[in-house]
Amino acid sequence: MMSFISKIISLLYPRRCPYCRNIIEENEYACEKCRNDFPKDDILTGAYGHRCISPFPYKDNYKKALLTFKFRDKEQYAPLLSYPMYECIKRQFGDIDFDIITCVPMHKKDFRKKGYNHSKLLAKEIAKFLGVSYLDTLLKTKQTPKQHKLPLSKRKTNLKGAFKLADKEIVKGKTILLVDDVITTGATLSFCSKELLKGNPKNIYCVTLTNATVKY
Ligand SMILES: [Zn+2]
Repeated sequence: MMSFISKIISLLYPRRCPYCRNIIEENEYACEKCRNDFPKDDILTGAYGHRCISPFPYKDNYKKALLTFKFRDKEQYAPLLSYPMYECIKRQFGDIDFDIITCVPMHKKDFRKKGYNHSKLLAKEIAKFLGVSYLDTLLKTKQTPKQHKLPLSKRKTNLKGAFKLADKEIVKGKTILLVDDVITTGATLSFCSKELLKGNPKNIYCVTLTNATVKY
């Protein structure tokens, strides 16, 4: 049952569609219009030879929703934005039994500054939807300039040695779903996958909310 305080909060701050900001019901993750407008086809790419899926292109309202979630403290967007990712997982990876849901990590200094890792929030919600455990598997040990601010030529070297597997034993023989917000060149997911492979997992799959590799 909703507490009195949470009732007041929901009256003051009603749940809004992350894509168009219209008010939606408490049990909805997007308004009907936006849901009907969702792309009919999932975007399929790869990262370091691993399949990567995304429900949305990195453009228009999808890009806007992601940037709001990332940079405007809209943590409450996590359960909403992760739902289309979950639906995409069911469509594309429906026959795969994941053991671990994990995410692209943030450097601890960036985390302190920001207060949350948006990819982790998405990953945790997806884990709940799938009924699979969320686990931190990677650490970001090097603070790096933002990938999207660098020229393409610098993006690969920028991340070299930036990630580290937290514990080799935890991913051994496991089927892993690696979560991030956006795939651009695939460099971030590739470096993370490479690091995860050091722990001999069975398989790695990737999912991102948006995909910027497709040019329109
Ligand atoms: Zn909407």
